[in-house]
Amino acid sequence: MDLSIILTYRCNSKCSMCYIWKYPTHPKYEIDGTILEKLPGGFDYINLTGGEPTLREDLNEVCDILYPKTKKLEISTNGLNKERLIGIVKKYPDIKIRISLDGIQETNNIIRGEKNGFEKKMETMTSLINIGACDLGFATTFQDENVEQILDIYSITKKLNIELATSAIHNAFQFHKNDNSFYDRLYVAKKIELLIEELLSSKKPKDWFRAYLNLGLIRKVLGQPRLHPCTQGTDNVFIDPWGDVYACNVRNDLLMGNLKQQSWREIYYGEKAREIRKMVAQCSQNCWMVSSAKTAMRSKINSKLPKFKVLRWVVFNKIRRSIGLKIDFDKYIDYSDINEDYSINKRTYYLEKPVKKVTQPSESSHYKQFGNFFNR
Ligand code: SF4
Repeated sequence: MDLSIILTYRCNSKCSMCYIWKYPTHPKYEIDGTILEKLPGGFDYINLTGGEPTLREDLNEVCDILYPKTKKLEISTNGLNKERLIGIVKKYPDIKIRISLDGIQETNNIIRGEKNGFEKKMETMTSLINIGACDLGFATTFQDENVEQILDIYSITKKLNIELATSAIHNAFQFHKNDNSFYDRLYVAKKIELLIEELLSSKKPKDWFRAYLNLGLIRKVLGQPRLHPCTQGTDNVFIDPWGDVYACNVRNDLLMGNLKQQSWREIYYGEKAREIRKMVAQCSQNCWMVSSAKTAMRSKINSKLPKFKVLRWVVFNKIRRSIGLKIDFDKYIDYSDINEDYSINKRTYYLEKPVKKVTQPSESSHYKQFGNFFNR
């Protein structure tokens, strides 16, 4: 199974679709090495995320603890802290690094509130390539403001011979905002179709499966049910900076336990975890983040293989692309079924805008102010 560890809620970006940066954790209360040591080995993936994980002074030590416990260790980063990443990659060249990039030049900088962010990310990526990192990629969150540049971003990743991970804006308790939506769902969905066609034209099998993952994103964008049922809480869990273990990072009622107070065994195999898994099985949200999508796409029998339905779609459509045919999206997507949003709040941008940050309390009242979160 996979694990996502939110090492901190401190962040040096100021994104318009996620307000984690406004409510940082205090470093003193963030989950430390002693607690992480309690995790067992044998994970498929461990993703270190945030906030911005490179703001953790002890990130090197965290990697030393977790690298042996998983087949693949990943850092999801904004890429602004080049030196810290270089130090880690020099020690672990096969570590997976995904740098968030939400557009070309100013588009990225405005969406993410990052002064010269685009330039810095490109510089970090080039440095990591030059020192021999072998699992690199950009990660883009699609939204109305950047989806026009979808193929430009893909073309940068192709030129650099790195990966492109994609997701779409959604709502989650950790973001401190629950009004993320699309201004024009059809427009965003149609742009994602272009990327799917390109991915299926690639020579890399990984890209073909990414094409399928993006098909799921179209359904998410249109407000339709997920392509595959969610298996959060079983195949993937989130640990937050206070050691709280959640089935996912969207619903804060899916709390399974706390790693500071309990052992991993007690949490994962406990009664509470069983109850939470029942709630996940009935969950009607249509989120399709990489964490919950890629696990849902895997075979139940062998987690290294895709589900048969996924494989069939990939093979069929790869063949179509290879003989120059377009993908028949109407066969997979009902474009007459588009969720109409009640009201859509325009996103606010924070580049160059001073904002007072509020450090979160040490005790577990962290998320109570946020209300309900719904993705549809
Ligand atoms: S579908 Fe439900 S359980 Fe799964 S990630 Fe979304 S909110 Fe969490």
